[in-house]
Formats: sequence, structure tokens, C-alpha cells
Amino acid sequence: MQADLVIRGARVIDPAESFDRSADVYVRDGLILDVARPDEALPAAEAFDAGGLVLCPGLVDLHVHLRQPGGEHKETVATGTRAALAGGFTVVACMPNTDPPLDRPEHLRWLTEVINRDAACEVYPIAAAILGGDRERLSDFVALKNAGAVAISDDAMPLQDAATMRQALLAAAQAELTFIAHPELDSAGQAGICGDPAVAAGLQVPYADPAREAEAIRAWQTAAASLPRRNRAALHIAHVSSAQAVAAFEEFTRSSHLRRLSAETCPHYFALTAEALRTAGPNAKMNPPLRMDADVEAIMEALRRSIIGIIATDHAPHAAEEKARGLLAAPAGIVGLETALGLVLECLVRPGILTLSQALAAMTWQPAAVLGISAGRLAIGTPANFTLIDTEATWTVDSRKFYSKSRNTPFDGWQLRGRAAAVFFHGRLAMLDGQVLV
Ligand SMILES: [Zn+2]
Repeated sequence: MQADLVIRGARVIDPAESFDRSADVYVRDGLILDVARPDEALPAAEAFDAGGLVLCPGLVDLHVHLRQPGGEHKETVATGTRAALAGGFTVVACMPNTDPPLDRPEHLRWLTEVINRDAACEVYPIAAAILGGDRERLSDFVALKNAGAVAISDDAMPLQDAATMRQALLAAAQAELTFIAHPELDSAGQAGICGDPAVAAGLQVPYADPAREAEAIRAWQTAAASLPRRNRAALHIAHVSSAQAVAAFEEFTRSSHLRRLSAETCPHYFALTAEALRTAGPNAKMNPPLRMDADVEAIMEALRRSIIGIIATDHAPHAAEEKARGLLAAPAGIVGLETALGLVLECLVRPGILTLSQALAAMTWQPAAVLGISAGRLAIGTPANFTLIDTEATWTVDSRKFYSKSRNTPFDGWQLRGRAAAVFFHGRLAMLDGQVLV
């Protein structure tokens, strides 16, 4: 059978299948036709030479804020998905804390129309766990699923007690959706913006107690333990940032009888400490906050031991004038789509904390499995979404070149080795050498 396209000569890594060898990838009608040894060549109308590059499934980011509706001055579906392609992602899931939030089916249906019209890559909406901003009132998870939600989350509006968490897990199980928890208890320790007491004192900003994160994970454990032994609930813990939270989560995994339990961390929690607040100011302010060396080590160790199996960006765009309000008043969050892969390669793969295949697993099939979608694999007959990676390319982060509408990154000027060299989306070249083509 004639292929439309062959991508030749790459080192092909499909982490879900532990596949890692030189191969040619054939595409027909936007789908993967075959992954074949170089000596089994099929006829193809077009060829793309990927010699010296790694080809993997298009990267998947399950934690992105696209800001639409209500925050279009920060990001839109159109700009955020192009930032995704520039960074090597072909699938993103977007968080529901928009304005209005994605807490009603009509809001999801509206967003779906925008996605169908404007998105440059695949976008899966996550719906809000609570209705109308009342943290004790859950939304209708089944109705939200029927309107297109792929998961439910309390991101930015964290649930506060084990009884509500239990209700949320049961409702999510009934809707057959994963619950993505933002673990943060208002009652545990001090809210703050800096996770290092010495840096906080120097900058005269409030210290953030990691107990807020760890106690929330323990509350989720209590909620999960109260469910029937054979339950269908699936829980994913967002943006784990501290050694205490890692310990709490590991303890949770030992006793869990949930159908699925997983956790993510983000590149800034292994690439930075709170010291970055001194140099990058509000562009290093995020929630949970940056912490200390021991926390970075605990996050890296949790990734190495696969306690944490997922790397997400928590891409959180904010306008320059919002970040210019100073450390205390600026909103929390940083953009991440266009720096994530470079930071993973530089900070985790190069020092040998993760193999390339492990790192790519954390950015492909493992996040896809949390969402219950079929992306993140090189399966025959599935959409031909690939990321080609140049692991040796040295480049300098320049936020002026971002496709994101926002520039709030603490990594500006960093020199990194390794980046996405090209992206194929449904069999068509969608990004080449940092230029988005769609
Ligand atoms: Zn978030």
C-alpha cells in the first residue's frame, strides 16, 4: 500500500510499548500506517528526513490554562495551542477556572465551538468540580461529561474537607471521569508565596507552609479510604511541589484501593527553588510556590522512582501589567508550554535522573491514561501525531519569541540543550524549527 508520507531515519521511541530503535514511520490519510525497519521500505509519496532526531508520540499536557473565556488578554485557544505546538505538544487538556468557569454544560459547549474553530492541536476540556464558586456545592459531573468534559478538577478552587472530597470521588466515578485535585488546605499552615523561610524573610513576603499541600493529600487519602473497597474512582493529584507532599502521596499509594491514583509535578518544581523569586520576581510566583533544595531533590527522586509518573506544565499565562504589580499583588502562575521539554531534557535526562524513554512516558501515554484518551502512543491506525526532538540542539529561551500571548516565565535567557525540532499533527507538518506552520 502506498503511504502519503514517510518519516525516515529517526530513533523512534514509543514509551508505552518500550519501543526504542531506528525505524521509519509511514502515514496515510493522517493516520499511522506502519512503523517499519529501514530495510522494509514501503512506497511513499513524500519523505521527511529525520536522521539524528528522536521521534516520539506527540507530547500530551494534561494541565494547561487557556484562559478562554474571560482571560483573552492573557491567552486564547488559538494562541495557547500554537504555543503547545511550538513546545512539542499535540494534545492539551485545559483547566476550568475561566470566567465564567466550565461548571455548566452550556459553558463547555461554547468552549467546544471555539476549540473546533480555533485550536491548532487537540484540546480536551476539564470541567469544574464546584458550581458557581461555592466550594461545598458540586457541579453535575455526568452532565458535564455529556457536554465534552474529559476530567473534573477543583484547580484554583480546592476542596477543603474529606467529606466533600468523598462526594466528589463518588460523583466522578459515576460519571467515569478522573478527578484532578489541587491539594491545598486553607486551614493547614500559612498561605504564602515563598516556600523558603530565609528567602521569604529577605524579601519580606509571607512564607508558604508545605503542610497546606501535604495535609490536603492526606484529606484525599481519608476520603478515598472511606469509599467501598471495590470502587471505580480515579484520582490525580496536580502539581506536587514539596518533599512533604511527596511523602504524603507515597503513603497514599501504599493504602489506596482507588481504580487509579496518580500524581504530576511541573518543570519549575525540579528546575527552580524559591531563590528564583530574588531574580525573576513575580515571574517566579506560582501556586504552589517554589520551595527549597530538599524539595527539588524529593521531586526528582519521586520521578526517578516513578512515584510521580507525570510531568505537566500548569501553563498559566498572565499579562505583563498583571505581573508588574509586585510580588504580593501579582497573580500566581507561569507559562510553561514552550520551555517544558527543554527543561525536562536539561534537568532530568542529561544528569541521568530519568532515561529519555522514562521522561517521554511522563509526557505522553501516562498523562493520556489519566484522561482516558487514546493519545500518547504510536499505534497503527491512530492519528499521526509525532514530536521530533533534537536532543543536542543548544538554544536560549527568549520569551519575545513565544507563541503564547503571555511572557511570564522565570526561564528567560536560560540556555538549554534539547528541544522539539518538528511536530506532525494528523500527518501534516505543523511546526518546524520553532516556527508554527498552522
Ligand atoms: Zn493550574
